[in-house]
Amino acid sequence: MPDTAKRDPPQEKRGLECPKCGCRHFLVVRTRPISRDRIMRRKECRHCGRTVLAHEDITGHVQ
Ligand SMILES: [Zn+2]
Repeated sequence: MPDTAKRDPPQEKRGLECPKCGCRHFLVVRTRPISRDRIMRRKECRHCGRTVLAHEDITGHVQ
């Protein structure tokens, strides 16, 4: 899906953005449960390879 010129409004903060290159395409390297309703995901940027940690609740919202 093309997402070139499209930008989400700031208050709708879903999805992760690479701190290095701003890319939003990630590979999930590892998923680990940290509590009953929260998980931690280690993701790797598909563009530059930077790894980031994302805490998510079970419904998929990024915190
Ligand atoms: Zn990147």
